[in-house]
Amino acid sequence: MRILMISLSILLLMGCVHAQTTKDVFAIESLGDGMYVHHGAHLDIDIGYQGDICNISFVVGSKGVAVIDTGGSLKVGNQLRDAIKKVTTLPILYVINTHVHPDHIYGNAAFIVDKPEFVGHEKSAVAMQLRKEAYDKLNIKYLGEDAKGSEMVKPTISVKDTLELDLGDRTLKINAYAVAHTNTDITVIDSKTSTLFTGDLLFIERTPVLEGDIKGLIAAIDILKTYPVKQVVPGHGPFAKDWVAALNNEQRYLNALLTDIRANIKNGVSMESTMNTAAAGEKDKWLLFDIANRRNVNIIYPALEWE
Ligand SMILES: [Zn+2]
Repeated sequence: MRILMISLSILLLMGCVHAQTTKDVFAIESLGDGMYVHHGAHLDIDIGYQGDICNISFVVGSKGVAVIDTGGSLKVGNQLRDAIKKVTTLPILYVINTHVHPDHIYGNAAFIVDKPEFVGHEKSAVAMQLRKEAYDKLNIKYLGEDAKGSEMVKPTISVKDTLELDLGDRTLKINAYAVAHTNTDITVIDSKTSTLFTGDLLFIERTPVLEGDIKGLIAAIDILKTYPVKQVVPGHGPFAKDWVAALNNEQRYLNALLTDIRANIKNGVSMESTMNTAAAGEKDKWLLFDIANRRNVNIIYPALEWE
């Protein structure tokens, strides 16, 4: 019992130290040429979710700054804003949300004071409103104190097809997509460095997830492959120069999933069984596979039953 107590206290201590270091350090990676990214932790939106699980980036031009996604809480947004202020005194002109998932948008509130244009997909404002109640509940459940002040801030500029944002010595090109990861996906291309910010159209390391349309997502990835870019910042995972390989990896997983689900529907295999077996060959290639893959089957199987 005593040994158990001691090891328990060591564990608790380790937990504290770990929490301390992850809480206090808001690491920013400089990608060069005025581009910066903060990588959230590879955690699910479940017990342990702390609002900081996706990539959030900012681009500094000669006239001002554009932020690309803001994290999942006011707290994370404030940490991001503080990091930007350490890099430049230029104004924050644009806050772009690559889509409406809560881990990407709830830091927006930190930037209201800067009076930027908030930029999102033409369907974002409606999608945000429809999800507001559920997301607010989710934030209260998981973020606790940090849910306070994490207000939903909708776009002031909405993108139907494409849009160029002027940062002075560089422009950001925004492209909007048909239903893919969600019904509100946009990407950003920086003209100065040919960098593509994909939002959640691309996951690296972590299992891709979708709530939109798997065929739409596969098609969107085909579009991304045609862009004349040199590197990508995915929605989750590391910055990558071998961006076509990263897109191919994601498509390989999605195609395996699509093939297996279609075959199971045809052969009368239940959704529950399919959750345990679909795309099994991909299991060791991705983080958080079991939970994310099951969730994907849960979305895709019912949709494909009507094909
Ligand atoms: Zn997402």
